[in-house]
Parts: sequence; structure tokens; C-alpha cells
Amino acid sequence: MTYQPDPLRYDKMTYRRCGKSALKLPAISLGLWHNFGGVDHFENYQAILRSAFDNGITHFDLANNYGPPPGSAETNFGRLMKSDFAGHRDELIISTKAGYLMWQGPYGEWGSKKNLVASLDQSLKRMGLNYVDIFYSHRPDPETPLEETMAALDLIVRQGKALYVGISNYKADEAEKAISILKELGTPCLIHQPKYSMLERWAEGGLLDVLERKGVGCIPFSPLAQGLLTDKYLHGIPADSRAAKPEGYLQENQVTPEVVEKIKKLNKIAEERGQTLAQMALAWLLKDPRITSVLIGASRVSQLEDSLKSLENPEFSKIELASIEGILW
Ligand code: NDP
Repeated sequence: MTYQPDPLRYDKMTYRRCGKSALKLPAISLGLWHNFGGVDHFENYQAILRSAFDNGITHFDLANNYGPPPGSAETNFGRLMKSDFAGHRDELIISTKAGYLMWQGPYGEWGSKKNLVASLDQSLKRMGLNYVDIFYSHRPDPETPLEETMAALDLIVRQGKALYVGISNYKADEAEKAISILKELGTPCLIHQPKYSMLERWAEGGLLDVLERKGVGCIPFSPLAQGLLTDKYLHGIPADSRAAKPEGYLQENQVTPEVVEKIKKLNKIAEERGQTLAQMALAWLLKDPRITSVLIGASRVSQLEDSLKSLENPEFSKIELASIEGILW
């Protein structure tokens, strides 16, 4: 049956300005790192994407290597673009990235112009798109001058293959330099994508300040710490969880007794707030106006629906914040 998106979708979401740019992103965006690859089920990820769009999620995040196998998430997304979203291209912000290992030889990863330009060409082909909205340097390359990586991003925008560019996994000082180079080139850096959650707070040590000062947006990835910041691991490791799957990046040994102890305490505060832990973890990030959007994953529609409800209770009292700090430190 032809997919008809919910006509009320834009009333359900809030949209936040990305740094000082003109672009607004949904407060919650969806990433296709897990659950959209060749090993996953079409009906399931089709339902997740449709539900996301029906709820006002206009931003889908990919990378060349998402799968497994690498590239398959883009191929699968391309299929759905054609079948479900072809008439909605101008309502979508689609991002992809290059920088991690994608093909053999010296040009298949990192930050050379050769890698970035070739990889984006491959991504566009897999997704059946003429351009992406945001193209990222997925990680800084210690062996390539930053000037070359940023010149590649600038070139890609001038070629019309991306509208905006971003950086991911760059530390505060690296980000500051990259943002300055891009500005000089005339292609402003739109956004930074760091790993940031209640359990991973390095971004607070300078990066968020740099982004605010430079007017660059911030979209934290793995805001639920790959599922740790949900009620999923409170009583062991469920068989259908990321930590239990061979292809999952969350390893069983990351679900330590210390982490579970913290999660249990956080879960109690979430319950007192009338939220699930996932909802509280997302609201906790979104309380900071420097955060443009949180980039979640979901392995089923019910998780997405749960996470979306974080927008219903965004405020924290001073006491709640202090209690959370007491648990996290
Ligand atoms: P999350 O931290 O949101 O983890 C998502 C996982 O948590 C789901 O797959 C599911 O795992 C579980 N989950 C989600 N919602 C709920 C819920 N409400 N209740 C219970 N469990 C839930 O994000 P990801 O780690 O998936 O990362 C999100 C996106 O960030 C990626 O898709 C990608 O786009 C981006 N990313 C970018 C990186 C970069 O280097 N730039 C690196 C990593 C990610 P389960 O399978 O156990 O059900």
C-alpha cells in the first residue's frame, strides 16, 4: 500500500535552530547505524522510518559504512527513499559521512580529499540521491593536514553534492581549527556530531563552549549510550538487545555492575518524574540550548514512540539535576 504520511506530523515535533545557521532540525533525529543493514528486517525498518516521519522527524543520519555489511544501510535507505519518501525529498535532511574504513587500500578511510569525494559519490549512488543535506568528516585524521580535509568538504558543497558540512568526533581544539578553516573557505561548518550522553560527557569539557562561540550546532550521537540509558539492562542482558547481538557495537562487558547500579538510581528519578529512563536521558541533553537535536537509534517502533515522549516533560528542577549529578559523578 502506498505510504501516506500523517498530515499532522509537523504539529508533533519541535524544531531547533542549528547554531547560527538558517537550518532547523527536529529536536529528535533518527540514525541508521544499527537496525537498517543487510542483516535486519525490511518490514521492521520500514515501519521505524515511516513512524519517525509521521512524528515529525525530518532528519535521518547515515554513514558510508553503516550496515552490516558496510554500505547496506544506505542501500536500504535508498530503496525506502524511492518507495516511500520520493515525494518528500524537500522535507528531509539526509546526512552521511566518510572517514572510517570503507574499502581496501590507502584511499578507503580517513580524511584525504580522495577518500571524502569518492566516498560521497558512492553514498549518493547507494541512496539514489543527487545530493545530501549534510556531509560529515566522520573523524579527524592525524596524518592529513586539516586544511585538506576541510578543502574537500568545501569542494563537495561547491560541486552541489552537499548543502552543508559537519564534523564528527573532533575534540574541542581540533573542532575550533576546522571551523575556522571552513569559515575562511566560505563554507561554514553547520554542525558537530559528538558522542554525548549522561554516561559520556567529554563534550562538556570545552567542545560545547567552542560550538556556542562559533555558532555551530551540536547533535549528540548515542544519547541513550546505545541502550544503556533505558530500562532494558536493569535486570540482565535481554536476548534481543544490542549487547547480546554479535553485530552490535555495545559489548556485554560494557554492561558492568557499576553501570547497572547507576542506571537503577537514574531509573528511580525518571519514575519520580513520570518518565521512562530513555525519556529522561534525552530530556536531560535537550535542556541545554546548545544542543540542536539528539540523534537516537531504535530497533523497533515502540522504542521510537517511547523516546519521542521525552519532549512532553523537558523541565528539570534544581533538586532533580543535583540528584542526577550525584549519581553520575
Ligand atoms: P542510542 O544511544 O539512542 O541507542 C539506540 C539503541 O538503544 C536502540 O537501537 C535500542 O537498542 C535501544 N533503545 C532505543 N530507544 C529505546 C527505548 N526507548 N527503550 C529501550 N531501548 C531503547 O543511539 P545509537 O547508539 O543507535 O546511535 C544513534 C545514531 O547516532 C546512529 O544511528 C548514528 O546515526 C549516530 N552515530 C554516529 C557515530 C559517529 O561516529 N558520528 C557513532 C555512533 C552513532 P536494542 O537494539 O538493544 O533494542
